[in-house]
Amino acid sequence: MAYEMVHEKIVGRFAPSPSGPLHFGSLACALASYLDVKVRQGQWLVRMEDLDPPREIKGASQHILNQLEAHGLHWDGEVLYQSHRLEAYAAAVSFLKDNQLAYHCQCNRKRVAELDGVYDNRCRNLGLDGQKNATRLALREQLGNISFDDQVMGHVKQNVHLTVGDFIIQRRDELFSYQLAVTIDDAFQKVTRVMRGSDLLDSTPRQIYLQQCFGYHQPSYAHVPIAVTSDGQKLSKQNLAAGLPAGNESSNLCSALNWLQQSPPKSLSSLSATEIIAWATQNWDQSKLPAHLTAPAPKGF
Ligand SMILES: [Zn+2]
Repeated sequence: MAYEMVHEKIVGRFAPSPSGPLHFGSLACALASYLDVKVRQGQWLVRMEDLDPPREIKGASQHILNQLEAHGLHWDGEVLYQSHRLEAYAAAVSFLKDNQLAYHCQCNRKRVAELDGVYDNRCRNLGLDGQKNATRLALREQLGNISFDDQVMGHVKQNVHLTVGDFIIQRRDELFSYQLAVTIDDAFQKVTRVMRGSDLLDSTPRQIYLQQCFGYHQPSYAHVPIAVTSDGQKLSKQNLAAGLPAGNESSNLCSALNWLQQSPPKSLSSLSATEIIAWATQNWDQSKLPAHLTAPAPKGF
């Protein structure tokens, strides 16, 4: 498949959270996003989403970076750590508050759970201060209907009001929300293409909504299936999915290419990681990516 040269600078990213080593699903995502920009002569950035210290595992960031390199996935520029970006997130929250686009909320988790996770905006007009209160985005009535064309999943529509309501951008313990940080950082890193796991498909409209609040350019989105176990559970650090076997990089890459339906020839597995990546970049065909939310991981992962 031929990819046209475009004049826009292409930038993609892989953004793992350092809560454990890469597993098969995260390798497949990293590989897909890498190939997605490299076939277009773009840059591939790595961002560590290390905003939630209690969930992090010591040394995991470095371990993930080592795993990427061992698989021939070399990133461009410096790794961006979200833990170094707190001032930028705080400035973004201040901007939203100064423009009456955000407010403080005193509702606890239990109350929101009773609303089935769709916040009823109760605190929006209470004029609460920030003392021990979360901060929520005040969704504007006319702007909650978000739609976009996902490059793999097709047309996606979501009414953010009905799906989540005014959502949290900063928690009561002052941690910034994933939605806020990812939006600020995609803009900061001038990301033009986001290819990632389908577990984030649902939160994309929130990110697009936030981009509109800040006047940011909207990247293109492509969501690939997430790898699941034979009983349908997401491979994750939480359910103790095996880390990728070290020393098996060629075979890991071939399994991931196969899983991404890129039809790698059997002989590829005898090549080095670098050679496999070169083959994959030559032969990447985005149209073969399965438009499914999940796909079973191959045996042995
Ligand atoms: Zn509230």
